[in-house]
Amino acid sequence: MSDATETIFSKIIRKEIPAEIVYEDNLAIAFKDIAPQAPVHILVIPKQPIAQLSDAESKDHALMGHLLLTAKRVADQAGLSNGYRLVINNGLDGGQTVNHLHLHILGGRPLSWPPG
Ligand code: AMP
Repeated sequence: MSDATETIFSKIIRKEIPAEIVYEDNLAIAFKDIAPQAPVHILVIPKQPIAQLSDAESKDHALMGHLLLTAKRVADQAGLSNGYRLVINNGLDGGQTVNHLHLHILGGRPLSWPPG
């Protein structure tokens, strides 16, 4: 299992470095991506340090559902009524660069398919 105990996102959760936080509850936090790839680019992460989706287990069932519903809520809050995309990059081939599970919410412009 990859180590997600300490990443840049841990520091954001602990408010040790600045981030534009748009939503927070006891399980999850959402903040604007520092290098946005679309007019709206927000990351939703669990406070629990799961390194990547492939490390999630059956016991994380409720948390995984919570993250998805949180993404929906945050997308609604951001006014993405015309649609949006959720992306989870998993591992090296998935292009994951931060080893703390995160959902990208991308929207505010038409998005092409397939991605890279
Ligand atoms: P990924 O490539 O899927 O691992 O995505 C990591 C994302 O985290 C990238 O889109 C980065 O721009 C974003 N990111 C990295 N550091 C920060 C930070 N301090 N605040 C906000 N977003 C960040």
